[in-house]
Amino acid sequence: MAWEAGGVPDRRGAHADLVERWLAELTRGARDHVVPMSRAETRAMLTRFAQELDTAVRDPESVRRISDLGAELARSHFVGDEVLGRSIAVLEEYFTEQDHGISASRVTLLLAAFTTGYVRAFRAWLLAEQESVRFADITARRLVEERLRESEARFRAVFAQAGIGTGLSDMTGRIIEVNSAFAEMLGYTPAEMLELSVTDLGHPSDEPGMWQLYAGVVRGDHDNVQLEKAYPHKDGRTVWTNINVSLIRDESGEPQYTLILVEDISERRALRERLHYRAHHDQLTGLANRTRFFDVLTTAFADPHTRIGLCYVDLDHFKNVNDTFGHSVGDELLAQAAIRLEHCAAEPGQLVARMGGDEFVILVTDSDGPDQLAKLARCVLDSFSRPFHVHGHRLTVTASVGVMEDRTGHTNAEELLRSADSTMYWAKAAGRGRYEIFDAARSHHEHTRAELTSAMPDALAHGEFFLDYQPIVGLADRRMTAVEALARWRHPELGIVPPARFIDLAEDNGHIGALGALVLGLACRDSSRWRTRFADRTPLISVNVSATEVSDPGWLQLVQRTLAESGLAPEQLQLELTERAFMQTSGRPLHALRTLADSGVRIAVDDFGTGYSNLAYLGRLPLHTIKLAGPFVQYLRTPDAVRAADLRILEAIIGLAHSLGCTVTAECVETENQATQLRALGCDTAQGWYFHHPMPAAEVSELLAVSGTGDAVARLSGQH
Ligand code: C2E
Ligand code: MG
Ligand code: MG
Repeated sequence: MAWEAGGVPDRRGAHADLVERWLAELTRGARDHVVPMSRAETRAMLTRFAQELDTAVRDPESVRRISDLGAELARSHFVGDEVLGRSIAVLEEYFTEQDHGISASRVTLLLAAFTTGYVRAFRAWLLAEQESVRFADITARRLVEERLRESEARFRAVFAQAGIGTGLSDMTGRIIEVNSAFAEMLGYTPAEMLELSVTDLGHPSDEPGMWQLYAGVVRGDHDNVQLEKAYPHKDGRTVWTNINVSLIRDESGEPQYTLILVEDISERRALRERLHYRAHHDQLTGLANRTRFFDVLTTAFADPHTRIGLCYVDLDHFKNVNDTFGHSVGDELLAQAAIRLEHCAAEPGQLVARMGGDEFVILVTDSDGPDQLAKLARCVLDSFSRPFHVHGHRLTVTASVGVMEDRTGHTNAEELLRSADSTMYWAKAAGRGRYEIFDAARSHHEHTRAELTSAMPDALAHGEFFLDYQPIVGLADRRMTAVEALARWRHPELGIVPPARFIDLAEDNGHIGALGALVLGLACRDSSRWRTRFADRTPLISVNVSATEVSDPGWLQLVQRTLAESGLAPEQLQLELTERAFMQTSGRPLHALRTLADSGVRIAVDDFGTGYSNLAYLGRLPLHTIKLAGPFVQYLRTPDAVRAADLRILEAIIGLAHSLGCTVTAECVETENQATQLRALGCDTAQGWYFHHPMPAAEVSELLAVSGTGDAVARLSGQH
């Protein structure tokens, strides 16, 4: 055998053969296992094994060594099912086929040693493997449990310590867990709360929809709802909370619990209510403010079949209190006034609100009628009749009240307020410290005033104003001595509007300057035309002028310029001013009148006797004519009505006027008796329907045209 000592053949070829076959078997056998080494590493190991086997086979003490080789194979993780069997087969073949010169029994012994070594090592490896798996298993489980415990502890800590109330209830609504925050919020211990069910925590202010929502969560319709809820505290008070109810399902998706998170928002809500209160109440008086008033007003109008009333209250001359005593006194006065108003309107359905400044309203919803409102207004006036005591001052303050009452279906919020407000101004205009009740007719009239005011600028620009002329005749010869220009407004919708409706208005709204200039211009232009045609037969042109115009610094120049432009001589113009206008005239305006009078313009006192009838001022003014007002002339209407005293007064006035160098014109002469009597009293000229109605400029021309022919004037006037 090649294994015999000395006769050792070249074993390298035999080794290589063994190694390759063993390697093939191992690779096959280890297929299902982790291949512990690379093929090259395995080949190197098996080559070393083959050499060692070769040596060991001849060494009687080599049995242990061969056992070690088996163990090494196992330890090298060649532990697959058939590793050992295939290795033994390869080795047996090797030992028997090769001529090693060893007995069969020795081969068996060697293979047994290899097997024993392998098996021992394999068992050790297996045990070690099992141990490590077991160990790994335990470690992992312990870790998971620990984590669970930790998270549960964390959950419990959160649950227990959370500032936010937390509770669990089962699907029957029984409370099964609450934290102390929730329990304390409602004045219970957690244990006490576990005795309750969610429905025990109902509150009167729970809306029906709330429990439906909760039922929806329990049914699983929705997983989560959030709402504001009031809870009854154990001591009876109310705790307002923000709750979040969610459904917790098990692994299979079945509803298990409801989890409730409860946040106490009582303070936040109180703050919100305070802000809401602030937004709806007046800070100074604590009364409802405008916002709240309009809310209630709007709500009241939602029912068209009820009645509603409003008292608009404004303190009289309140500004004086502020100016004289300072704002703190003013504020305190308003606060006290508010209390008095509230005493008057303390019944349900009555709301007192401060509209701002010193303006208040009392709103009566579902009113009994105007009488109820009038009674309220009287109560307000009565309550203001007692003086106010403010910071040591004793103040008497009155109030003006405007009352409006109507059916809700008849009016609207805006109209109610506007009407009551403007009615309050009627009370002010009537002398303050009183109430007025809304009057639709009066309001309509004032309404048109407002409309006329706003239409006036356009009317001036578009030539809607025109003049009629009314002749003034000599009482002796009935000759036309003058024509009075009378303004009219051809309104596109209202037709011809008489001056009584727009002169005052124009004086109030500042349009009188433009209107006066227009009238003067038109009158002078017409007069100048007549003059061209009728020369000396042309009457004076008499133009009405208001005090406001005369006071305008530019007025004097305007008159002078108009005269110059029309080519009229000053003597051909007469200006009529009412008594009132004269009384108001002093300083520069009086100077303007004097300047004009000095230049030859005639000045007449219009409507003498209707105003102050103050004879004293007559002498101080540059006057040429006194026009006796209608009422004087009225006394002389029929012979029976004439009283001696009236005649004497008239006679005295006419005499006085003459002694001052003035002529006298009687206005509103409507009867022959008036004409005769006035003439007998020495009155110079007259104006009135008995002679002529006001007429267009063209008719004046016609009159003048025939005036050259004898008694044409008298003939024409006889038509009236
Ligand atoms: P007035 O200056 O006293 O004008 C006379 C008013 O008496 C005119 O009314 C005239 O139509 C009316 N009248 C004339 N005869 C009679 C009569 O026999 N019986 C009665 N009952 N009335 C008669 P009218 O035109 O309505 O003018 C009213 C007032 O308007 C005028 O009173 C005058 O003060 C003012 N006015 C008219 N035009 C102007 C104007 O251009 N400027 C200014 N500032 N005021 C004017
Ligand atoms: Mg006049
Ligand atoms: Mg007059």
